[in-house]
Amino acid sequence: MACCPYCLNYVSNTDFYCHSCGAEKGFLYFHGKARGAIFTIATGIVLPIFVSILSLFLLQGFTPPFFVVLTASMLMFAYSAYKLVIGPVWYR
Ligand SMILES: [Zn+2]
Repeated sequence: MACCPYCLNYVSNTDFYCHSCGAEKGFLYFHGKARGAIFTIATGIVLPIFVSILSLFLLQGFTPPFFVVLTASMLMFAYSAYKLVIGPVWYR
């Protein structure tokens, strides 16, 4: 058994939701919602790689705008990878 960090109510290790206070366990705090691993991998890992490859063609090679997109994508990638490495945390 684990404890909810907000209300100290006992929750199961497999629970991603505290039934006492409504806190959620997940990876990303996005629009007030904790997200699961699949959402985090899809938007934070797969999407930045896809956008980088797509912009390489749309922006016609290694141009300055491409590197702006690449930097933004890599920041999102690094942020999501960090979230996945530290594991799910509680949000409220
Ligand atoms: Zn709670």
